[in-house]
Amino acid sequence: MNVDQVLFERFGYSAFRTGQRETIESLLSGQHTLAMLPTGTGKSLCYQLPAYLLRGTVLIVSPLLSLMQDQTEQLKMRGEKSTAALNSFLSFQEKQQVLRHLSRYRFLFLSPEMLMSETVIRALRKIRISLFVVDEAHCISQWGHDFRPDYRLLGEAREKLGCPLTLALTATATAEVRRDIIHHLKIEQVKEWVFSVDRPNIAMTVEHLSSRGDKQSRLLELVRQLENPGIVYFSSKRGAEEGAEWLRQNGAGKIAFYHGGMEQEDRILIQQQFLHDELNVICATSAFGMGVNKNNIRFVIHYHLPPQLESYLQEIGRSGRDGEKALAVLLYAPGDEEFHSMIAQGEFPSGSQVMSYLSAAGGQTEEERAAACQLTDVQLRFLRHYADEATRIGRGSPIDYVISKRQERLGQKQDKRQIMLQWVGTKECRRKKILHYFAEQMKEKPDPCCDLCGIDLQQYNRLFSQEKKDEKLAWQAILRSLLQVEG
Ligand code: ADP
Repeated sequence: MNVDQVLFERFGYSAFRTGQRETIESLLSGQHTLAMLPTGTGKSLCYQLPAYLLRGTVLIVSPLLSLMQDQTEQLKMRGEKSTAALNSFLSFQEKQQVLRHLSRYRFLFLSPEMLMSETVIRALRKIRISLFVVDEAHCISQWGHDFRPDYRLLGEAREKLGCPLTLALTATATAEVRRDIIHHLKIEQVKEWVFSVDRPNIAMTVEHLSSRGDKQSRLLELVRQLENPGIVYFSSKRGAEEGAEWLRQNGAGKIAFYHGGMEQEDRILIQQQFLHDELNVICATSAFGMGVNKNNIRFVIHYHLPPQLESYLQEIGRSGRDGEKALAVLLYAPGDEEFHSMIAQGEFPSGSQVMSYLSAAGGQTEEERAAACQLTDVQLRFLRHYADEATRIGRGSPIDYVISKRQERLGQKQDKRQIMLQWVGTKECRRKKILHYFAEQMKEKPDPCCDLCGIDLQQYNRLFSQEKKDEKLAWQAILRSLLQVEG
């Protein structure tokens, strides 16, 4: 069977989307591949399709448990039963069960931590791995917007597995990040397929408001007027909850909130309701979106400033996946950026936490020490990773090393924030600016493009779309009667 037949027979699609064919063919010709495809294109197909043409198991390393779960479910819904996920959700017995039957699976999803386990590596070495996939590969780079220290060690794991054919997938990575991905995965020769990050059907606009109150009223106005479904992104869990409550109280429609602090079942419920159009709008933190396969999202509003252009692009990219026009609105009030500086400080362990954790006397377990130092999971992961790295590379005092890494990361975040802020305040075409950041040139300016190129928000309104639909229906009726077709 050739790739077109598999695409049709297995997946029911008649054509490839941007970059899919190139990526798949490059893998089938045996080349390690790095593919950067715009959000919503269908990156998963790039490893799902070759699985039916290569012999062995496809390993997929994925950063989020929820993403892994979604993708396993999707494959199962397509009738693919030989799929499993190895992650911390599984009990010891369940893990053993999966490990004992590894060769039965066509797809095996893994969290990066799992690949750090010698038992898992030993079991994997016994089977034939057809493809080693690193999803959201930008997480490997500390210059990436979603750096995950665990991802850093994937290169070693890959070597232990005998350097299988590798696919690194990402939607947003600058040239620097792409170099970092290849370097850390220890890939010798790689074919890079880099496609534009641009999504021409998404128009972008930034509204400058003078106070929090103005922002709230404008949000309400937009949510009431714009064609939905839509997502409103907030930078905090509390913000998302309060925003949803306020919009609901003011009669803005069927609205729910979503964030990482909710129970797993509630999160699944909300996602399902949104997918089935039982909700008009989700007020969410960045925890919402990855792996959410809803193609008719008409708007994404950012109530708070995103921390960097990469996450902004990824979040607005959740709209308009059906190719129809969609709108991205960013509401900015002076001082919004300060919030992120505060969040960034809290993401890393403070100097005194690092000192008390690393200099604590024995007798306590790691968990007890972490609790005594009031470290969050994220802070603890950061601290452990760099303390281990200091020892591994012989960097003297782990305390000094961890603190210097903290400073370095805070500085990087600050730089990214500055670029985001410059984009908010720019007087040039917004699309051109974003493309420039990713070292791209705009080939064709879509219309509408952005607020600075001129945009009529009316056309995104619910009533306007309804009128258009009614007009279309009226025309269809006229044509039918002219052609004397029944129905
Ligand atoms: P992302 O690139 O954001 O990871 P996904 O892999 O989740 O995107 O796919 C997004 C959606 O596009 C899915 O619903 C998927 O089934 C659909 N899709 C992928 N490839 C094609 C194709 N060639 N034709 C039509 N739909 C496709």
